[in-house]
Amino acid sequence: MKTTRNQNHAQKQNPESEWFGREKVSADEKTDRVLGVFDSVANKYDLMNDLMSGGIHRLWKNALIKEVKPHPAQKFVDVAGGTGDIAFRIREAAGLDAQITVADINENMLNVGRNRSIDKGWLDNFEWITTNAESLPFSDNSFDVYTISFGLRNVTHIDTALKEAFRVLKPGGRFFCLEFSHVTDPILARFYDFYSYKIIPKIGEFITKDRESYQYLVDSIRKFPKQDELRKRLIDSGFAQAKYKNMTFGTVAIHEGIKDFA
Ligand code: SAM
Repeated sequence: MKTTRNQNHAQKQNPESEWFGREKVSADEKTDRVLGVFDSVANKYDLMNDLMSGGIHRLWKNALIKEVKPHPAQKFVDVAGGTGDIAFRIREAAGLDAQITVADINENMLNVGRNRSIDKGWLDNFEWITTNAESLPFSDNSFDVYTISFGLRNVTHIDTALKEAFRVLKPGGRFFCLEFSHVTDPILARFYDFYSYKIIPKIGEFITKDRESYQYLVDSIRKFPKQDELRKRLIDSGFAQAKYKNMTFGTVAIHEGIKDFA
């Protein structure tokens, strides 16, 4: 395949854009294959989250909401919002008047989320939009809060998504990313590697009959930028006061930043 200078530049800036887990692919193929992963797991996604994390993903998500401190007068966008876990927590914390947009590239994931919201009787002030985090169909300066939970790792061009987040936030608006990250202690990292490479794909295979999607999960975590690098990329995308907080020994981190009034 012919590689242009622009592609080389993009690759340098986004080294993860051409990796689907451990496989080297084109950026377009990465986006398609990620779509395929979530098509395949959508119906079992919530159950699998509980099984693989022993329910801890609920605590991580609650911790994110504690950082966000949702307020009823704010407008929220939850990107890569999938089956609605973050949106529902925002609704619980902010009350029925908060306006929440859930955006995700995968219609099947959103359908599961929309059905959950119907079950909860939460139809008003919710919007479910199928879209790529890299090109959001929202005007500049639209939202007070942008959240992305376990989503950024799957986006093909992370920096493009960060710049979109910056664009759609109002001045003073806040960005939050909850994502798997990198265990800092080398001994714990070895245990974590064992669990991720040997156990997670097996649970995935047993429950969803789809080992490959869970192998992708494990590999994509390893390819995701380390905590300090992601913080730097937030700053490069325009965010002020960029910082992060590790949870569970760095298995997961919350990054945040502010779109300054300038
Ligand atoms: N945020 C939810 C949560 O925390 O449970 C769902 C996370 S799930 C691991 C990742 C989600 O990212 C999937 O719903 C997937 O469709 C979505 N996704 C992947 N690439 C995306 C992209 N480029 N733009 C928007 N959503 C994307």
